[in-house]
Amino acid sequence: MEMTKAKSNNQLMKRLLEIRQELHQYPELSSQEFQTTEKIKNWLQDVGCTILPIETETGVVAEICGTKPGPTVAFRADIDALPIQEQTGLSFSSKIDGVSHACGHDWHTTIALGAAFIFAENRDEFSGTVRFIFQPAEETTQGAKQLVEGGLFNDGKIKAVFGLHNQPDIPAGKIGITEGKLMAAVDTLYITVNGHSGHGAIPQHTVDTVVAGSAIVMGLQTAISRNIDPFEPVVITIGKFQAGHGHNVIAGEAKLTGTVRSFNPEVRLQLPDLINRIAGEIAKGYGAKAKVDFVPQVPAINNDPVMTELVREATKEVLGEKAIVKPVPTMGGEDFSLYQEYKPGCFFWVGTGDKEKGVTRQWHDPAFVVNDDVLPETVEVVVNTLSKALQHFSKRN
Ligand SMILES: [Zn+2]
Ligand SMILES: [Zn+2]
Repeated sequence: MEMTKAKSNNQLMKRLLEIRQELHQYPELSSQEFQTTEKIKNWLQDVGCTILPIETETGVVAEICGTKPGPTVAFRADIDALPIQEQTGLSFSSKIDGVSHACGHDWHTTIALGAAFIFAENRDEFSGTVRFIFQPAEETTQGAKQLVEGGLFNDGKIKAVFGLHNQPDIPAGKIGITEGKLMAAVDTLYITVNGHSGHGAIPQHTVDTVVAGSAIVMGLQTAISRNIDPFEPVVITIGKFQAGHGHNVIAGEAKLTGTVRSFNPEVRLQLPDLINRIAGEIAKGYGAKAKVDFVPQVPAINNDPVMTELVREATKEVLGEKAIVKPVPTMGGEDFSLYQEYKPGCFFWVGTGDKEKGVTRQWHDPAFVVNDDVLPETVEVVVNTLSKALQHFSKRN
């Protein structure tokens, strides 16, 4: 199958850059992507894509059927922005105060639209159906869950799901692909420590929760290192510690909030009990009480080896074998992993880093920029991956 080459299609590229600038100028926060949703729907309907009836307030799932029947495969892009004041100096900077696309989800959305446009124009050239998932609320890890609950997999047709994220740590022109572990499971931790407040000069009549809470913070780090296999990475970060009302008043309550990251599902299952035991016993040692809430968010990204091979093959054809790099896993998380609980899939990095062009900033940096130079080939990689996946599943039928 010879699909139109995106790169040499100047008209398509011009259109995609316009779309990206439009999305970038009007970013919307997680679960508030109402205008973005409308725009995406219109752009898709203009080229004859069918919008599927998924129950969701924001986000879009659309499909394009080839003229010949065949399997269904899907590509997911995230569409939400962040509560960050943009400081990029771009001519098409955010027009919304305090909100910007500082993670490049506008770029991901544009790539998915580009691939959708190409499939819509070439229905004669593929057998089966491609679905495009424009997912809301990735930053709050609520969007994937919302779409799954809204019926994303209900008709049972989707055979595999693919997704990508821009990656400034990988040079532009390279694609980071790996089977297995790529990104960590993410869980949220809430610990409330209760003691007894009193005068800062008379500690003997109090139970100081700043001291007990601090001991818990320190104890949790050691608890991981002494209870979990050193080859199984786990991170516990307490990012928020709230206690006290005055410099001379001992705090009777402390609230600790943190994030827990892990890879191995079995290790992940052990963590609530471990944290509960350590926090509880430490608090007890100080005469305080600790209540632990471990709230699961998203599992780890675990790429299916067969689907990963399809991405690798597709990338090789577009950019050559040398473009493929094997990324080291990160403790960052992504709710794409939720789709992988249902269907095999592969999530990969698109290198966007370019020191000469100043594209070096990390995600969520107010001066973060993506790299439109690699947009055309990324669209091609996505189109080629989905085409290969269609062929793969037709052979098996
Ligand atoms: Zn982000
Ligand atoms: Zn992101």
